[in-house]
This record gives sequence, C-alpha cells and structure tokens, in this order.
Amino acid sequence: MPNGDCIFCQIAAGEIESTKLYETDNVVAILDINPVNPGHTLIIPKKHSVNLLDADEVILGEMMAATKKVAQAIVDAFDEYDGFNLNSNNGRIAGQVIPHMHWHIVPRKLNDGLQLWPGKEYKEGEAAEIAERIKIKLA
Ligand code: 5GP
Ligand code: ZN
Repeated sequence: MPNGDCIFCQIAAGEIESTKLYETDNVVAILDINPVNPGHTLIIPKKHSVNLLDADEVILGEMMAATKKVAQAIVDAFDEYDGFNLNSNNGRIAGQVIPHMHWHIVPRKLNDGLQLWPGKEYKEGEAAEIAERIKIKLA
C-alpha cells in the first residue's frame, strides 16, 4: 500500500523527481540527494515498509540482486572507486531519517573522510551470555 505522506513512496511512484539509475517491478535505485561520494545510491523497494524488520523477504532478495548489479556498475564507472559500503539505518536511534525501507551503496575512494564504527571489547564470558540471550529469541 503506498503511503501518501512518504517521500520514498512518492519517489517510487514517480510523483517526486529523482535521478533514477535502475528499476525493476519492485525496486528502484536512485542517486542520494546528499552523497557521501558521487554515485552514492539508494536501493528502495516500491512497496512501503518502515525498515528491514517489516520488509517482504522476496522483495529483500530483489533489492539485493539490484544492489549487486548497481554496485558493480558504480565501481566500474569511476577509476577512483575500489569498493563500497552497503549501509542500512534501521530505526531513528540508528540514524534512519526516512521511515521507508532502503539501504545505501556508498562508493569508496582513498582519503574520502568516511569513518567506520569503533569496536569495543567483550568482558570474560560476556559474548556467550549475549549470544544465549539472542538465540532464545531465534528459537
Ligand atoms: P537514512 O534514512 O538512511 O538515514 O537516510 C536517508 C537518505 O535519503 C539520506 O542520505 C538523504 O540524503 C536521502 N534523501 C532524503 N530525501 C531525499 C530525496 O528527496 N531524494 C533523494 N534522492 N534522496 C533523499
Ligand atoms: Zn513509503
């Protein structure tokens, strides 16, 4: 169901302008309006869901196939790009600004200034406890 107030539903429906790179029946790939690096792309399902947790699994598969194709084209199109980050912000606390499922292909070049997350350490035995707590929810 399209959501009338949702900017990505409107982009997917062609009601708001975007720079489209690729499209399938269920997915659209557009340039992010504020790129980390030129070619920074958003992979967006046409069907509204808020984020990964309520997304349709078949459509997620189609998004990933589109991601592989478009990411390869971005890296091939520019000599300076050697790789890319695939990033998905899920929930406001994680930095999600647009509440319509999407992820980012961020092409990377030397010294582009983008910092990845700092890693912490587990205390003795903590990793096993954390894993147990999560595995109960997976069962
Ligand atoms: P997130 O919700 O994952 O934090 O980020 C949303 C992304 O959408 C941002 O990188 C922002 O630049 C991009 N964005 C927001 N509004 C528009 C728009 O109207 N058009 C396009 N092409 N990108 C947008
Ligand atoms: Zn939407």
